[in-house]
Amino acid sequence: MTELAGAETEMRDALRRLRADGVQRLGERVRELVAGWAALQPRRPWDAVDRARLGELAASAHRLAGAGGTFGFPGLSKAAAPLELLLLGLRDTPSPRGDRLRQASAQVEAVAAAWAAGSAGAEEAGDAPGQASQAEHGEPIFLFAEPEEQALLSAVIANLGYGVRRASEREVLEGMLPESRLSAAVIDDAVPDPLAVCRRLAGRCPLILLAEDSSFENRLAAARAGVEALVAKPLEVNELADWLDHFAGARAETRYSIVIVDDDQLLAAAYAMALRQAGMQVTSVSDPAQAIEVIAAAAPDLILMDLQMPGIDGIELARVIRQTRRHLSLPILFLSAEQDTQRQILARRLGGDDFIPKPVDLDRLVTLVRLRAERARSLRAVMESDSLTGLLNHARFKERLVLELERARRHGHTLSLVIFDLDHFKSVNDNYGHLVGDRVIRGLARSLQKRLRRTDVIGRYGGEEFAALLIGTAPAEAHGIIEHLRERFAAASFDTESASFSVTFSAGIAGNAGGVEAEAMISAADAALYAAKRAGRNRVMVAPA
Ligand code: GH3
Ligand code: MG
Ligand code: MG
Repeated sequence: MTELAGAETEMRDALRRLRADGVQRLGERVRELVAGWAALQPRRPWDAVDRARLGELAASAHRLAGAGGTFGFPGLSKAAAPLELLLLGLRDTPSPRGDRLRQASAQVEAVAAAWAAGSAGAEEAGDAPGQASQAEHGEPIFLFAEPEEQALLSAVIANLGYGVRRASEREVLEGMLPESRLSAAVIDDAVPDPLAVCRRLAGRCPLILLAEDSSFENRLAAARAGVEALVAKPLEVNELADWLDHFAGARAETRYSIVIVDDDQLLAAAYAMALRQAGMQVTSVSDPAQAIEVIAAAAPDLILMDLQMPGIDGIELARVIRQTRRHLSLPILFLSAEQDTQRQILARRLGGDDFIPKPVDLDRLVTLVRLRAERARSLRAVMESDSLTGLLNHARFKERLVLELERARRHGHTLSLVIFDLDHFKSVNDNYGHLVGDRVIRGLARSLQKRLRRTDVIGRYGGEEFAALLIGTAPAEAHGIIEHLRERFAAASFDTESASFSVTFSAGIAGNAGGVEAEAMISAADAALYAAKRAGRNRVMVAPA
């Protein structure tokens, strides 16, 4: 054994010992925590000494949360972090409510269970217990192509807004495919034995094959190798972009927004912590009277609501929420200690989707919330968006316009409304066919999505008309942005088997100066668009303020 290898082995041994020590101490700490909590229970009401003891237990939970991560027990961390919060809350409340106590007990049990599950797994897995799972969005696109194509394709994909994970030939031939999650794989058929590569990747992520040969036989062979999308060469970037959006775009947005309504701030904070750790965005509100306003501002995917609150109960509040049309399908999950089935039935009728019994199993809470939010979001996406472009449809765009105008008025910021119309689009259809026309429409939709900000609102306003709302942008500035967009779009070429052509658009812009109403703003932008058409098309005009 060389000296170097010897030193390495020694170091690994030392690390293993260190870890074993740490793991052992973790176990002791969990047992102390469970015993400490059990000892405090019968001593209620708690005196100053007991409360100091609660503070120590909270500190212990805090250390467990941190050390659990360090030593590879993510489940333990996840359970211990909310426990710290609950214990601190109990320490600071002279006469805590029953449901807080029950929640704390349940959480102590969850910590013990997470430890039991994690340490058993650690023994089985020897040296490598599970890694902390990261919030999983924005996974890269795996790319495998010939070296000279690789650089170009990688730039194309990156330019579409996706991360790229390039593979070297050696890696692929030796089967060293990436361990990490991938949102899709793009394989160029110029590499040696592309279908073998596809077979090896199949099932891991959706596969896109760039193929010279797009005959039926080849498509069939590709399908049998697990390929879901075949893009014929020469490559049409828009087509590739469509597929990437289809496979990866939706997943990149899975950060769910949740509103918690619970009069007990402490419990709300514990739920919020569990959901945040699972990568969700959480807003809590403890005063039910403010819930409506908070919900309107947060535009959540789901509401988590306590059924019993002082002054107003969850059922009444659900009724009020449902009075707003756009909240008709917003899922509401009730937290309830209630055994009364009559009331549960009533709550269900009012759109309570499910009940979570208190005290809450936080793991189950996270799972339920994610499932419901996922379903609600896909339903909403279908209902609200235009099927060709995925943008907001006409009605939804107008609703957002009204909402944003109101918000701008309140906060005193500027807005610009832009209406776009493709120039001489009828002749595109006439010359190249309706399907090619559709591709141009999607192309413009994508340029808008790519060039405008995430916070801007974009809609398909009509057949070949689009609208965009640029938040916090005055018309003069919007003019510059849209001019730039116009130049880029006009310079892009669309290719068919027999021809290559380009398309232009005209646009009209109106601002919100003087607190205009939505309808007046639309008319002004429309008039500016019309003026741009009359002045010769392929230009952007701003309505007089
Ligand atoms: P201009 O706006 O410059 O005055 O000329 P235009 O040719 O674009 O004018 P017009 O608004 O009269 O025609 C719009 C055409 O867009 C007519 C319609 O067939 C086509 N169109 C509308 N919706 C779609 C669509 O979803 N797909 C395709 N391919 N064509 C569409
Ligand atoms: Mg038109
Ligand atoms: Mg037109």
